[in-house]
Amino acid sequence: MESRSTVIDKLRIDYEVPFVSDRGKILDHTIVRINERRKGVEISYALLDPSEQDLDSLFPSDGMDSLAEMTGSILHDLGVMPQRIALQMWDYSVAQGPYSVEGRAPVNKQRDTVLIIFTKSPFVYKFGYEMVLWHQAMHAKDRWERRFPAAHPQVQVSEWIDALWHFSIDGRLEAWNKPHYNKSERLEEAAALFRKLRLPADVTERALRAGDGLWAKEVTMAELVEKGKSLGLEASSQKASSKRQAKGPETR
Ligand SMILES: [Zn+2]
Repeated sequence: MESRSTVIDKLRIDYEVPFVSDRGKILDHTIVRINERRKGVEISYALLDPSEQDLDSLFPSDGMDSLAEMTGSILHDLGVMPQRIALQMWDYSVAQGPYSVEGRAPVNKQRDTVLIIFTKSPFVYKFGYEMVLWHQAMHAKDRWERRFPAAHPQVQVSEWIDALWHFSIDGRLEAWNKPHYNKSERLEEAAALFRKLRLPADVTERALRAGDGLWAKEVTMAELVEKGKSLGLEASSQKASSKRQAKGPETR
């Protein structure tokens, strides 16, 4: 049998919004090294120290089969039907975020490929990965349907954009009876973020009300940016982000 860690294919993903590195290098695509195909989904293992033994214990074959199958069916349920679906599994996380960091979901600019990145092994941590998968698939859907740009996975948007986006995502999932974080969890998360950004109380109050109002509403990136400007979120996050080295994948 062929080794599970052999590179059998390479998948190039081009982005509309490139990542600019600390040295000013512009990265407008990623190359994903594909190791396996399961249930119509391409699998890439990004391990710090790849060995066959690690692979089998971190990402057991039967677990990967069901994860791949579920990924395909969730995207299909959401009306996202790319030519190529890839899963990238990490056994490490480069991100130091305020909340749990579970994944990312870039799409390419041609809109024929979706990549779902798991930054933690969903098997080792034994959490129900269904919710994470639905969540990431919704980020992918919004990008797929061009409400959000196809951005390089390392591009870090302001945290308040994600916080507001999550009201839209989880509200729609709730309306469809799919696994989601509930509104009170999202309100708490947003409130914690606004505290961290040291927003004035009235701004926080208006921002939380705005989040509440976005529950289950389809939004675009442009609308969120506009909303953030009118609420005065933009200025506050610039102060915070200049102190912080932006890198790594997004939060849940
Ligand atoms: Zn998210």
